[in-house]
Amino acid sequence: MTDQPRDAHDDMAEAILAGDRRTLSRAITLVESGRADHRARAEALLDRLAPAGRQALRIGLSGTPGVGKSTFIEAFGGLVTAQGLRVAVLAVDPSSARSGGSILGDKTRMERLARDPRAFIRPSPSQAQLGGVARRTREAVALCEAAGFDVVLIETVGVGQSETMVATMTDLFVLLLAPAGGDELQGVKRGIMEMADLILVNKADGDLKAAATRTTADYAGALRLLRKRPQDPPGFPKALPVSALELAGLQTAWEEMCKLADWRRAEGHWAATRASQARDWFEEEVRAGLLARIARDPAIRARLDALGAAVAAGTAAPSRAAAEVLAALD
Ligand code: GDP
Repeated sequence: MTDQPRDAHDDMAEAILAGDRRTLSRAITLVESGRADHRARAEALLDRLAPAGRQALRIGLSGTPGVGKSTFIEAFGGLVTAQGLRVAVLAVDPSSARSGGSILGDKTRMERLARDPRAFIRPSPSQAQLGGVARRTREAVALCEAAGFDVVLIETVGVGQSETMVATMTDLFVLLLAPAGGDELQGVKRGIMEMADLILVNKADGDLKAAATRTTADYAGALRLLRKRPQDPPGFPKALPVSALELAGLQTAWEEMCKLADWRRAEGHWAATRASQARDWFEEEVRAGLLARIARDPAIRARLDALGAAVAAGTAAPSRAAAEVLAALD
């Protein structure tokens, strides 16, 4: 046995706890890796960092392309760092594998924030499946928290599934929308509306200002019709107009986020949500591990294929076939 790997992890953990950005970047690369030896190192590192117990305010930010997410993050991030706080920005982009593009990947985005010493911006890796993205993002958040960031912003494009995933790993969920042309709501899925703590109608400036005001009122009305959640103080979830371009309404949006976070902390919702999120994460890891074990074992794989064919042909019931595969694991 050698002490070397343990020392390497200790050094890395120490550097992250000291806020070293280069080590943080390397550690995120490590958690993104699919290699088994990297996975083992990532797990050892995360285990070493967990006892520090540092927590950031985790904010999920979702919006369709073009709504102004990067403009908003640049402006909002600048506002937060101007208050002496440190902000990390992570991206979740399961669609990038398909589109070939990558949100946050474009170097011209968020130039000012990228140069801000209190900010850390991490683009999404180009190849990722949703399951892998969830793990990578959770672990990247944990690394950023250990590195002492006060706010971790997780950006996602409006594709439904990724929003749900981000909502399971954040303290607040913010939906960024554009002003609507007509008086109809913009086809935002009810499920996504139900996850929102704050709806921000962006581009409330110039010619779009009146439409943004109307849209904000429409969404405020729609939010009031949703079922009341125990984790909401009176008045939440709420809709507000903002202009990322003119930096209007951003301070108010930040104050509302802080108000909501403080209330949830005081009422015990924060700790309860974090605890259940951690438990869900753990169970998901167990499930993923089990599936990986099944995939690795050639005998079980062969059985899986044969039973799969039988189920497809209608000669075996899915539940009984599944039970047979699971019995093979004993
Ligand atoms: P993303 O795709 O959601 O990241 O959107 P971008 O931040 O790239 O913005 C898309 C377009 O909307 C750009 O042309 C921005 O200049 C514009 N935009 C973003 N925020 C605002 C805003 O507050 N007001 C106006 N008028 N335009 C904005």
